[in-house]
Amino acid sequence: MALTSPLQIYNTLRRKIVPFHSLRSEEVAMYTCGPTVYAPAHIGNLRTFVVSDWLRRVLEWNNYQVTAVMNVTDVDDKTIKGSRAAGVPLPSFTKPFEETFFADLDSLNIERPTHTPLATEYIKPIIEMIDILLQRDLAYQAVDGIYFRVAKAKDYGALAQLKFNPTATQSRIGSDQYDKEAASDFALWKFWQAADGEVGWEAPFGRGRPGWHIECSAMIRTLLGDTIDFHLGGTDLIFPHHTNEMAQSEAVTGRPLANHWLHIAFVNMANSKMAKSKGNIITLAEIIVRGVPSLAYRYWLLSAHYRTVMNFSWEALAGAANSLRRLRHYVFDLSEKNKSGGKTGIINQEYLSKFTEAINDDLNLPVALSIVWQLLGDYSPASPDMLTTILEFDKVLGFDLASATEPEVFSEIPNEVKQLVIDRESAREVNDFSRADSLRQEITTAGYAIEDTPEGPRLRKK
Ligand code: AMP
Ligand code: ZN
Repeated sequence: MALTSPLQIYNTLRRKIVPFHSLRSEEVAMYTCGPTVYAPAHIGNLRTFVVSDWLRRVLEWNNYQVTAVMNVTDVDDKTIKGSRAAGVPLPSFTKPFEETFFADLDSLNIERPTHTPLATEYIKPIIEMIDILLQRDLAYQAVDGIYFRVAKAKDYGALAQLKFNPTATQSRIGSDQYDKEAASDFALWKFWQAADGEVGWEAPFGRGRPGWHIECSAMIRTLLGDTIDFHLGGTDLIFPHHTNEMAQSEAVTGRPLANHWLHIAFVNMANSKMAKSKGNIITLAEIIVRGVPSLAYRYWLLSAHYRTVMNFSWEALAGAANSLRRLRHYVFDLSEKNKSGGKTGIINQEYLSKFTEAINDDLNLPVALSIVWQLLGDYSPASPDMLTTILEFDKVLGFDLASATEPEVFSEIPNEVKQLVIDRESAREVNDFSRADSLRQEITTAGYAIEDTPEGPRLRKK
């Protein structure tokens, strides 16, 4: 690909858009903080992973060979609490959520990362890092665990632009979950307590389990080395998670943890952050139950730049579903015309350079998408070049347009049937299986078959 506009991307650390230079010539190492598998991911979480996929595709468009790591946090306060409440061992509790998560990635056409390490498989490198920090007096032992000594870290809080006063730091934070804007010593290792049940690993400094931040630092160091090209996550991770990852990794290696820090803005519900704790989450399974294809969510995400907070609404999602259906229809139409014409196309160079300019300008994919529509506006007479160009652009957009071989009939599910599905889910949640069965019967009578998949129930017209 001839490139006219070099890639430049916003770097949270420097609070500005900077040119991208890879550390290892044509290879790029990126790490995305993955899901905590104690519940299904919500569509806010999934925005982060779709944007991570777009970054990877843009890098590949720029001819880089990308190693993409996305971890799975399978041990932390929330997963342990969940497994105890469910009365099952930790891995049996986390596994189904992990599987649902990867099914969500597939249905959003997110390329599988090159590595998807589980935190519990990296206990040895985690212990090694903590050992080094202890030896250098950058960590210390307290009653309930090993803590990182924030006052001794170089430039602590730079990523979050914290005004940090080393002498004021006395408090200790044992929990993985806190979001106050305070710099405090944080747990690297938590000694075993009765509430941990069977969860715990032997370490020279005592049986216990890792803190959340050190898990990512150890996986990065083991799989990608001291300094990576990109580190990604939602904006809520800037502090404390990424700030603490950075502090402990850099204290061990003496090198910057990441060259570029990229943070993805939140998806809100009615102007309030979508979060499980707020009870306002929507999952991909719910979108599918309503008869909306999951790729419509991917399309909707392109109504804003990745650094802009988005407000979710079902109306806007329906609009995105419509546009995507039209796009697929055009592609189908073009491919039909081409079949009869029997010619293969070449990529339109003018559009290619406009498209590249947009995606290389801090991943401005909303503009890139509008360029696709501009191209379709130049539709008559349809030329094979148009189809070839659009399919080329789809390598970045990821709408699986190559499969648009026929105009899609997205199932129009009547509201009464959708309500039956929702009622059945509620019945199942409270283990009222006889009511769930009779609702299934009503759904069948209405002419639909319901199938329970790991991503939730799926409806199909019989
Ligand atoms: P978690 O599973 O909670 O560790 O979160 C996984 C990823 O989703 C992290 O990168 C979070 O920053 C991100 N995230 C969490 N909530 C939202 C939201 N409402 N919108 C966008 N990203 C989010
Ligand atoms: Zn992380």
